[in-house]
Amino acid sequence: MTAPRTVAFSKHSTNLFFHILTQCNLKCRHCYINPAQHGENMLSFETIQAWLEPFKKNNAGTNLIVLGGEPTLHPDLHRILTYAGSLGFGSITVDTNGYLFHDILSKIEPGVVDYFSFSLDGATRATNDLIRGAGSFDACIDGVKKAVSMGFASSLIFTVSSINIHELEKMGPLLKRLGIHKFFIQVIGLRGKSAKMPDCHTENEQLQVSPSQWLGIVPQAARDVAELGIPAIYPTVFLESDETFECAGLVADNYFVFPNGRVYRCPLCEDYPVHSLEFRDNSLVRTPPLNESDFFQLNIPEGCVMNKLIQPQNLSYTDEGKPEFQIACCLLKEEIGGR
Ligand code: SF4
Ligand code: SF4
Repeated sequence: MTAPRTVAFSKHSTNLFFHILTQCNLKCRHCYINPAQHGENMLSFETIQAWLEPFKKNNAGTNLIVLGGEPTLHPDLHRILTYAGSLGFGSITVDTNGYLFHDILSKIEPGVVDYFSFSLDGATRATNDLIRGAGSFDACIDGVKKAVSMGFASSLIFTVSSINIHELEKMGPLLKRLGIHKFFIQVIGLRGKSAKMPDCHTENEQLQVSPSQWLGIVPQAARDVAELGIPAIYPTVFLESDETFECAGLVADNYFVFPNGRVYRCPLCEDYPVHSLEFRDNSLVRTPPLNESDFFQLNIPEGCVMNKLIQPQNLSYTDEGKPEFQIACCLLKEEIGGR
């Protein structure tokens, strides 16, 4: 049995999550894109070139993740990826819902991107489509098959919610059949649409899973996938008592760029105008206090400050009033299998 390995924040690598647009053909129940906070524009190729500039100094150590919205809706995505490839990034990933618009696979070579990362939220059509919309399961499966058959390395992201957690254990055989190279499990957060408690089955239903559901199901499901030879990565979420809390905003180098120019260092802050950086006239500048950087400094027994502020239902306390778990930084991952 392979043991999980904590993927600690690297102080030597940078992750650049670049949202090139916010438009999407789907309306997933848990979508974190919030046009009121992230804008509704599609960045031009020239603007994207300019906005990649500040990150060029450490390109070999930078992982570029191109996302949206649905990034393949951008008619110049092939030019963007080819340009990014010429800058020598450590890796380039495209996050997609699988519709693969503008015939993107036929416009770039497999060597240009390291991964196409497909989002699928169920092992069955019924469950996935309940979350992501009618037809999205078939479109994603077709997209994966096409990418794999054309030689593109493909990973898959499964966002765990109360609607689909029962299907996580069924994912392994599907991933194996599809030829998926890496499996990412994400925890649903209260950002974007899910912050508004969408009308799932009943008015009061919550998309978030309980700590006992998460701990009882997710690590084992990841182990099962790894046993099939597919590395599985999932967020730590709950720290053990001997683990030390660290805020990635203080010790790591992550940037979440949105098409309205906001640049966040923490994804949990993305629903609020607290970004610590922004593009002004194509230059990356710091924003004045108060911003997310001021939250990162706060040291609380519950661990992540932003979690306590926006999703306190993740917290539970002993009779003495101490937190039962510290909540890890959402960017801290466990990896099973692989390197
Ligand atoms: S595919 Fe992604 S961007 Fe589009 S609605 Fe779903 S979660 Fe949002
Ligand atoms: S999720 Fe929490 S711990 Fe991680 S960067 Fe944000 S505030 Fe810091």
